[in-house]
Amino acid sequence: MNIHEYQAKEILRGLGAPIPPGEVATTSAEAEAIASRIGKPVVVKAQVHVGGRGKAGGVKLAKTPAEARERADAILGMQIKGLTVEKVLVTEAADIASEAYVGIILDRASKKPVFMVSPAGGIDIEEVAATTPEKILKLPIDTRYGLQPYQAMRLGFFLYDDLAKARAASKIMQQLYTAFMQSGCSLAEINPLVVTPAGELIAVDGKMVIDDNELDRRPAVAAMRDESAEEPSEVLARNASLTFIKLDGNVGCVVNGAGLAMATMDLVKYYGGDPANFLDIGGSSNPEKVVSALQIITADPNVKAILFNIFGGITRTDDVANGIVTATKKNPLKVPIVIRLTGTNEEIAMKILTENGFSASSDMDEAVKKAVALATGGKAA
Ligand code: GDP
Ligand code: MN
Repeated sequence: MNIHEYQAKEILRGLGAPIPPGEVATTSAEAEAIASRIGKPVVVKAQVHVGGRGKAGGVKLAKTPAEARERADAILGMQIKGLTVEKVLVTEAADIASEAYVGIILDRASKKPVFMVSPAGGIDIEEVAATTPEKILKLPIDTRYGLQPYQAMRLGFFLYDDLAKARAASKIMQQLYTAFMQSGCSLAEINPLVVTPAGELIAVDGKMVIDDNELDRRPAVAAMRDESAEEPSEVLARNASLTFIKLDGNVGCVVNGAGLAMATMDLVKYYGGDPANFLDIGGSSNPEKVVSALQIITADPNVKAILFNIFGGITRTDDVANGIVTATKKNPLKVPIVIRLTGTNEEIAMKILTENGFSASSDMDEAVKKAVALATGGKAA
């Protein structure tokens, strides 16, 4: 789960990190009022779940409250990488002498949180990683002991030669590490970490990605979810207890079980197609889930054919068949559907489908080949 910059900053501020004062606005009038309260030049910042807002025109300085209003007016409603800006953060502007990058990611290979820091921070950190990787220090942390003071100092000195600044930075490293662990993050980032002309360190941007599996035991973090900022299909899927990930292809897949879903996507690829999604309706029998699944898949304009691949164990294939019939009666399909099912109550399922004008088979290979051919207009092998 992504949270907004203002939420990440609240967490960090709560741990004592140097975050400039600021508040969130949904209208330009509110933005003006916040800027008046702050009483100093501000930055108006789009709150959307993507990086690179600065480059996209979603981060603007404003010297006066009236200017903050104008900036908010321009940014609210703006599209950044396909997402509409619904909120802006109005925050005291910092004077910037230098920008550093500080981040922690959960590294699957070492199974540890890994610090990544660079004195060359700011908006082009990907560029730094690609062209001058020696400007980035990576340091894995053993979670049994946490971030040790000597490690925090080493990170601080990689950013600044000056002892006072390195110390201040090492304190921020500890705060970021605490935030990362406490909130169940897979990523936590301050970019840029700024040094002001007066030599003060300030966290000007904050980003956190929370591991969804950590949310159940962290209701306060879970409550930070902003559904209006998420992919609508993924919201629908989560509320229907479906495991769904949108992809870029055109074969909509409805499968039960994550393993079969992966195998299905592999086979779609093997036959020259591209899956439009990963969708696991799970192991239980519930026609409602099938209805939701079809609703989500048919809402994607890229989908040119739908492929059901159901292996009935605990899942009763007749329940799936009933779900398909119910869903398509409510919303007639505009694209072809290929159904493969086998296992529990297969005969009943086939009967339900045939009586309602669908054809189905029990051969996975044939079904996938057919779905790919339908989606590509016969162009794939
Ligand atoms: P991002 O582009 O989504 O990462 O948004 P950031 O919050 O990191 O802002 C992008 C850039 O805008 C920063 O790297 C800064 O150069 C600039 N910026 C952001 N906040 C301030 C500020 O308070 N003062 C000044 N002078 N520049 C800022
Ligand atoms: Mn940034």
